[in-house]
Amino acid sequence: MQFDDLYQEIILDHYRNPRNRKDLSSLPPERILDNPTCGDSVCVDFDFDDSGRLRRVVFDGDGCAISMASASMMTEYLRGLTKPEILKAVSSFIACMRGEGQDLPDDLAPLAGIRQFPMRVKCATLAWHAARQQLGKENSGE
Ligand code: ZN
Repeated sequence: MQFDDLYQEIILDHYRNPRNRKDLSSLPPERILDNPTCGDSVCVDFDFDDSGRLRRVVFDGDGCAISMASASMMTEYLRGLTKPEILKAVSSFIACMRGEGQDLPDDLAPLAGIRQFPMRVKCATLAWHAARQQLGKENSGE
């Protein structure tokens, strides 16, 4: 099996069996972030424990395999982090997908190939933008 095929398999597995996916249709519609160029939409919801570490982040949405797989992978990747750590991880992922940053961490490496397809980068970063938007709002509400 080629390395790229393995990466593709991981993405398809996350798409078909999304981790931490939950019905968030009760959340207000402004919580949903859209990617109109592809028709993807994603919504995320954070649950922190008393020590400020992420207990779980869940997502809901509709879209292409890349947008849904990236959201699913994000929920696993961010677990256990604090808010500042999450914001840092999100920024560095988005920069990396835009070709500005360093290599992706191993857990997210399957998404690296998408950088060759600029139109799809927005698909891959949608959930991460939603996460940043949501945490930004939570911070300002405190
Ligand atoms: Zn898409």
